[in-house]
Amino acid sequence: MTGTSFDIAVIGGGIAGLTAAHHAALAGASVAHFVELGMTGGLVLNVGALDGWPSAGPIGGADLAAGLFSRNEELGVTLVPSAIDRIEGRAVKTLSGPDGTWQARQVIVATGAQLRTLDVPGAERLAGRGVSQCAWCDGGLYRDAEVVVAGGGDAALSEAIHLGQYARAVTIVTRGEMFRARQHYVSRIADDERFRLRWASEIVEVLGESGVEAVRVRDREAGAEEVIACSGLFVFVGLAPNVGLLGSHVARDAAGFVVTDASFETALPGVFAIGAVRAGYGGRLTHAVAEATSAAEIAAERCRE
Ligand SMILES: Cc1cc2nc3c(=O)[nH]c(=O)nc-3n(C[C@H](O)[C@H](O)[C@H](O)COP(=O)(O)OP(=O)(O)OC[C@H]3O[C@@H](n4cnc5c(N)ncnc54)[C@H](O)[C@@H]3O)c2cc1C
Repeated sequence: MTGTSFDIAVIGGGIAGLTAAHHAALAGASVAHFVELGMTGGLVLNVGALDGWPSAGPIGGADLAAGLFSRNEELGVTLVPSAIDRIEGRAVKTLSGPDGTWQARQVIVATGAQLRTLDVPGAERLAGRGVSQCAWCDGGLYRDAEVVVAGGGDAALSEAIHLGQYARAVTIVTRGEMFRARQHYVSRIADDERFRLRWASEIVEVLGESGVEAVRVRDREAGAEEVIACSGLFVFVGLAPNVGLLGSHVARDAAGFVVTDASFETALPGVFAIGAVRAGYGGRLTHAVAEATSAAEIAAERCRE
């Protein structure tokens, strides 16, 4: 399939990319969808029950992605199970990756982001041995245990609430003096004594030999340190965008997210960026879907010109 030419290339198999491929195909364009390792779902792949998603009943990320994927197949979207490393060219873009090269007239970058890790002693050594970034995958291992969650946004609180179904106590360590999260998460945590809060604090060390035994927490104002015993540490301290394929000539914000105009087009004409990779992204699946729909329709319109 390498060398094939398409109207629109969509890069990234998360919900933004799946939705963009869907709407580009509905608009009549020939679409290649580049999905790294052929695995769809992105950041919500392991989330068992999505919050704020307008569906008739509860749905998990894997099921949502699988449903979108099979609908895209029916619409004739060409799945290419490859990452893309580089985009070059002007009127026609050449996309290259480890598995080949392809051409497209318009490109939609939906490469999302990765969860940041903690850069403190012990965190890397104990990754997978008590340090986790998936409560839905690992929560069941912590029945009646004490766990710590690092972070204060939507992801941290939703995963902490999930952990609360298993753990005896969940201590949330956050650098801020308030949460930056949906109010219903905040209320749920405030009303439940299993959740303990450490405001304006940060984890400075993860302690343990063969597994996590405790974390050392520092109060950012007073400087005082405390050791909190726990057998699991769940880290949700923000996102790092997957932007390597765009090179250095596409504008980014201070945190590295891709800058676009109001139509989601980057500084490279015909190259759009949507979803979690984009500066100013709202952070929710419904925002990803809105951006994807808009960018796909604009790109398809350009292909008809
Ligand atoms: C733990 C957690 C729980 C969440 N729960 C909710 C929730 O309940 N409700 C809600 O509204 N939001 C939730 N969110 C937010 C939501 O996950 C994101 O807003 C959304 O998934 C972003 O989708 P995306 O497609 O832009 O990016 P991503 O989901 O990051 O998908 C990007 C995809 O692109 C792939 N990719 C990266 N680089 C390349 C490349 N070079 N070539 C090809 N492919 C590439 C990646 O592997 C990935 O599969 C949650 C987030 C987290 C972290």
